[in-house]
Amino acid sequence: MPVCSRCGKQGLFVRISKWNVCSSCQRGIEEFAAERMEVCSADLKAAEASSSGEMRSRYLDQALAALSDLVPFDDFDPPVTTPRPSERIRDIMKMKEAISSEQADIARILDRADEILSTLSTPLGSETRIRYVLSLLDEAIGRGRSGDANAMERAYRLRSGVFTRLAAIDRSAAGIQSGLAFTRADRHRGGQDEAIVSSAAASTPGRTSSE
Ligand SMILES: [Zn+2]
Repeated sequence: MPVCSRCGKQGLFVRISKWNVCSSCQRGIEEFAAERMEVCSADLKAAEASSSGEMRSRYLDQALAALSDLVPFDDFDPPVTTPRPSERIRDIMKMKEAISSEQADIARILDRADEILSTLSTPLGSETRIRYVLSLLDEAIGRGRSGDANAMERAYRLRSGVFTRLAAIDRSAAGIQSGLAFTRADRHRGGQDEAIVSSAAASTPGRTSSE
């Protein structure tokens, strides 16, 4: 006698489907699977549209939770969804791993930037290294789509520190230029120092004289 493996309904006229369940259980499972898959798709879309790795991970977790409700039906043949829930879960786990390894990369870049900045002695003469740090930070920020909010905040904070240092270098350089102009002017002309100093400072492109 046909028996539904799910609700136990039995009888000569009970129709048992491909999944070994009665037609009412069959419909129930199909509707449940469709609803869970809708939730899963919405979470995957939201993950794709998220601007931070943190948010992406969170949406992927929600997608995983929706899929895990379908794991009891994973062995059904034909499958309750294609690909099977367990296969989708595996794919999403891989996406999560990619996010966390990218986050680790960004953290390493920021550590390196921090390390270089902490070992600089004087601002002048360190410009090349500071500019290298800037390129590291730009890279970290460029990859920031996967970074978490804390990492990005750290990157922007370091970057603003770098600009402060570069501005200090510019001011020192402008000071040296002014000093040279002053010496020259003193030797050759005398009396008109101030005008020459300010014109030397103003004629240096990309430099701003000290306030
Ligand atoms: Zn049933």
